[in-house]
Amino acid sequence: MRTVNLPDGEPVPVLGQGTWRMGESNADRAAEVKALQHGIDLGLTLIDTAEMYGEGGAEQVIREAMQGRRDELFLVSKVYPHNASRSGVREACERSLKRLNTDRIDLYLLHWRQSNDIAQALHGFEDLVEAGMIRHFGVSNFDLADTQEWCDLAGGDRLATNQVLYNLMRRWPEGDLLPWCRERNIPLMAYTPLEPATSRVAAVLEPVAQRHDASVAQIALAWVLAQPGVIAIPKASNSKHVEENIAALEIELTPDDHAELDRAFPPPDGPSPMEMN
Ligand code: NAP
Repeated sequence: MRTVNLPDGEPVPVLGQGTWRMGESNADRAAEVKALQHGIDLGLTLIDTAEMYGEGGAEQVIREAMQGRRDELFLVSKVYPHNASRSGVREACERSLKRLNTDRIDLYLLHWRQSNDIAQALHGFEDLVEAGMIRHFGVSNFDLADTQEWCDLAGGDRLATNQVLYNLMRRWPEGDLLPWCRERNIPLMAYTPLEPATSRVAAVLEPVAQRHDASVAQIALAWVLAQPGVIAIPKASNSKHVEENIAALEIELTPDDHAELDRAFPPPDGPSPMEMN
């Protein structure tokens, strides 16, 4: 598996597994567990979740999927902003650890910004690192101004990632956030990478897909994976999708493919407002 380094030099896989909408229904649970396990077997060891997903249900699905394999995994979870006071962060993390049945989360993120006082979350994260409950921390849905504000706080320069909406249809990070992160060796974690393939614009990807004997989802994912310093976390609750997503790592888009995709989905010509799900 190709990796990208966190700012402290630790390598993490460029392709992981998302879990939004998992753990919401008992009927889907077995398939979700099986898909995650299949992904782990094939090397998708970075798993992204949040206390919000299924109100803890997704973390419980991961617990079931990872039995006996905790040490193979890099677990990412997120705290709700309304829990992000210094003490609230600790309590939320304790609940997540319990649901995941583990003693540590590898990367813990503030899910989005709600309060002016982001230092509270940062202090909470520092306490958790000190206690060995998390190993790295970061943010999600922060635009460049918010990210800079975080990094300017004492201790904020230990930011490990910013997880944002980034795909062919949502190229806003290229305007300022992505170059800024690259200069600092902070990987950007791209969520909803398959949006172009699961929306009405999917047909636009067809010609490129045909040239590579691939699906439109694989082309959407291959494009995100072609961006230096970016980690993609597609969610798949079906094992065939998991296999297709891993195979996207092998697709090398040509300069002509990139030119065609740039014409259909032009990059921003300067800083652009953040988009989020
Ligand atoms: P996504 O991964 O872009 O798309 C998921 C959808 O694509 C599901 O319907 C899935 O179906 C389908 N799919 C997966 N692989 C496919 C393939 N090879 N071919 C065709 N369809 C395929 O969207 P997402 O779940 O919104 O984003 C990914 C992850 O990012 C989330 O799960 C979550 O962990 C994270 N996220 C974070 C935030 C945030 O605010 N930080 C927001 C949104 C998402 P099946 O499930 O049936 O396989």
